[in-house]
Amino acid sequence: MEQTAKAPVLEFKPEIANPLVQEVMERSGQPLVACYQCRRCAAGCPVGEETGYITPDRLIRIINLGDREKALSNALVWQCVSCYTCGTRCPNEIMTGRITETLKKMAKETHVEPLKPKVAFFHDTFVKSGLRWGRLNEGEFVSFYELKNFFKDLSRFKFKAIYEEIVSQIKLALSMMGRKRLHFGVQSSKGRKELNRLFKKSKAKKQA
Ligand code: SF4
Ligand code: SF4
Repeated sequence: MEQTAKAPVLEFKPEIANPLVQEVMERSGQPLVACYQCRRCAAGCPVGEETGYITPDRLIRIINLGDREKALSNALVWQCVSCYTCGTRCPNEIMTGRITETLKKMAKETHVEPLKPKVAFFHDTFVKSGLRWGRLNEGEFVSFYELKNFFKDLSRFKFKAIYEEIVSQIKLALSMMGRKRLHFGVQSSKGRKELNRLFKKSKAKKQA
């Protein structure tokens, strides 16, 4: 009789899974263990087609099985657009968008190379710019973000990518200027000191 190939068996080892599940649950505030894999979240995720087999339900499954390496480095973590469609569809109110944010931070803390460096640059620059001024100044923010991309590409001799990025940003800038949507000035918010204080406090709380 012909032997059929056996599907790989997923092993659950609580001693490996529990620390990861607890950490992600505490930091994201999402009840991962309530997920029963109905896949309603996957059906509505707008980036599902670009992230291969990693859909929100599968990301949760990966965490619940304790696969830290895969949880910190997969396409959904870096391509999630934080639309929260997953959360509005989930019968257990699990917001996978908050989980992907948490995993990005965990990846950064443990020096895992981001799969999408531009997304990582965007986040870093956004937070730093926001803290500096208490609000976002588009001109300043985009300049720092593009400079980071430029030096990264330069260090890898990606001259074509640099050229394409410059052309695309010039086109975008001209189009925005035509609509009077590009602001070059720098404005600061009165509450920026308070924002910085809150940010430092939340960071200290996480490290405690
Ligand atoms: S919709 Fe909620 S319960 Fe269903 S698979 Fe997604 S996260 Fe899990
Ligand atoms: S928040 Fe992220 S994971 Fe959830 S539906 Fe939107 S893109 Fe997909």
